[in-house]
Amino acid sequence: MTPQHAFSIEFFPPQTIEGADKLRATRAKLAELTPEFFSVTFGAGGSTQERTFETVFEIQREGLQAAPHLSCIGSTRPQIREILQRYKDAGIRRIIALRGDLPSGVGDPGELRYANELVAFIRAETGDHFHIEVAAYPEYHPQAKSPRDDLLAFKRKVDAGANSAITQYFYNLDAFLHFRDECTAQGISIPIVPGIMPIVSFSKLARFSDACGAEIPRWMRRKFESYGDDGDSIKAFGLEVVTHLCEQLLKAGAPGLHFYSMNQAGPTTELVRRLGLA
Ligand code: FAD
Repeated sequence: MTPQHAFSIEFFPPQTIEGADKLRATRAKLAELTPEFFSVTFGAGGSTQERTFETVFEIQREGLQAAPHLSCIGSTRPQIREILQRYKDAGIRRIIALRGDLPSGVGDPGELRYANELVAFIRAETGDHFHIEVAAYPEYHPQAKSPRDDLLAFKRKVDAGANSAITQYFYNLDAFLHFRDECTAQGISIPIVPGIMPIVSFSKLARFSDACGAEIPRWMRRKFESYGDDGDSIKAFGLEVVTHLCEQLLKAGAPGLHFYSMNQAGPTTELVRRLGLA
């Protein structure tokens, strides 16, 4: 692998002052790897959103490229317009545009119902100011009516003006390659960057994967389960499997990699080092 492969790193906004301090330290270590940008997730609901703004602006002040995620569910057009203006004023040039998920108990989906409508709104409001990334699902979005419907939903986001896409994480190389072939057949030519989830704790990952529709292949699941509480073996095997997946993806022509850091420096640093990307 060579350093010409760009990669990016994702954070979630910290909930506490200690979390913010820890993230600063994590970011300082990860910045040494010179990623193309750091993205920061965004949730439905007021206080969480403020923490996204704070984290994004802090990254930007440090002279690093920050790319905020922006979800539209539960929001009005004026609310989104205001957020776009804040980002424009701060010199942000890249946004990850998503539908998002409503927190349980919240019924109102807001004015923009799907991510393609958000992409169209951002383009209508801000022209070409932002590079717009959208989400892609090689193993299909859990709410999709069918694989074909999901592919067409992805195409609508591209047709609305998305510049590139980042995938949900996956551990099946073939799922990504098949999805990419299907996109090509649909005339979709934007870069589709695999989202990479390092594996540090198997039980947490298994719960999370069930919820977001990412499959952990049986052979991996069985092997992780066989390690029981042996955290070192889980980490070592996780690193081996994910490094191999990344190597295969880059060999197959993936345009870059996006690491879900989970706000930890160690696993992403080790992967980037093993892949020779820094
Ligand atoms: P969409 O592309 O709108 O698709 C959502 C579902 O609706 C799909 O099943 C699609 O097939 C279907 N669909 C689309 N259009 C139509 C239509 N016209 N009629 C019927 N069905 C339709 N979540 C957050 O809350 N905050 C984040 O920061 C965040 N970051 C993410 C980053 C990445 C890279 C990824 C992959 C996911 C992220 N998510 C985040 C999760 C994401 O918000 C959820 O997966 C959400 O359920 C879907 O968002 P989307 O933008 O993919 O939606």
